[in-house]
Amino acid sequence: MANSKYEYVKREFEFHRHLPASNWIVVRIDGCHFHRFSELHAFEKPNDDRALRLMNACATSMLEKFPDIVIAYGVSDEYSFVFQEKTELYQRDERLIISSCSSCFTSFYMMKWKEYFPSKELVQPPHFQVEVSCYPEPRIVCDYLSRRQSECHNRNQYTTCFWMLVKSGEGENKAKEILKDTLPKDKNELLFQRFQMNYNNEPAMFRKGSCAYRQKVEASEDERWDVAVAHVDMGPHFWAKHSYVFDRR
Ligand code: ATP
Ligand code: ATP
Ligand code: MG
Ligand code: MG
Repeated sequence: MANSKYEYVKREFEFHRHLPASNWIVVRIDGCHFHRFSELHAFEKPNDDRALRLMNACATSMLEKFPDIVIAYGVSDEYSFVFQEKTELYQRDERLIISSCSSCFTSFYMMKWKEYFPSKELVQPPHFQVEVSCYPEPRIVCDYLSRRQSECHNRNQYTTCFWMLVKSGEGENKAKEILKDTLPKDKNELLFQRFQMNYNNEPAMFRKGSCAYRQKVEASEDERWDVAVAHVDMGPHFWAKHSYVFDRR
């Protein structure tokens, strides 16, 4: 074969890592430098709801494109996608799973931008980095999702306080100083005392993040699975209703 003298390049230098069998694969994407990106596109602070809905729309498209995604959870510029344990997507080749998820998500984001920001030009191409983890049991996947959600809660409570202080005239450094070492209940108290704001009345999408999953729709004759997006606690009550997400296929 004419090429045989070059074949060693593939044989000796190409490296494939296949993710372990019988593990749930979690692909987490996160916008690169979105602090800057959000300023450049004048996102409302602390939460621009158009930007969050755009992320949710991209996640919905991901579930539609990859049937092996069983559930997804997103907050801010990040989204985690859980692939079912038996997925054979790209023969579980880590490189292909990562590159394909990140480029698909980025393409959806750009394609849908106009729908969510009709009067705002996309002036910088967004890009997303990806991390992959594998979990051998649904219980650990649930704990992973709860960890992301509790981080969403902590961060959102902080940024809500931060921006209320800044918008009321405090400098950014002063606002950080006021919030340093405060507990969650102190932050709720601060919002209430200074701004007559009840944190629990803030939109659920901001406080709890967004969860995308498949839901059975009973249409007249045949049944269909649609992607639903909900802003709910991913605790025992949620899992009691949605345990089918982890059913073995
Ligand atoms: P990195 O590249 O390391 O991820 P980053 O700038 O993207 O850096 P993150 O920790 O991922 O930092 O945080 C994302 C930032 O993007 C938030 O801190 C916030 O400033 C901004 N952001 C993302 N989504 C929104 C939104 N819906 N509304 C307002 N700001 C947002
Ligand atoms: P995969 O997802 O496995 O990569 P693929 O359809 O992209 O599948 P490739 O082997 O990568 O298949 O080949 C790319 C195909 O895209 C070509 O076979 C050709 O049909 C088409 N294509 C790519 N670039 C061009 C081009 N510049 N002009 C015409 N056709 C093109
Ligand atoms: Mg980021
Ligand atoms: Mg982030």
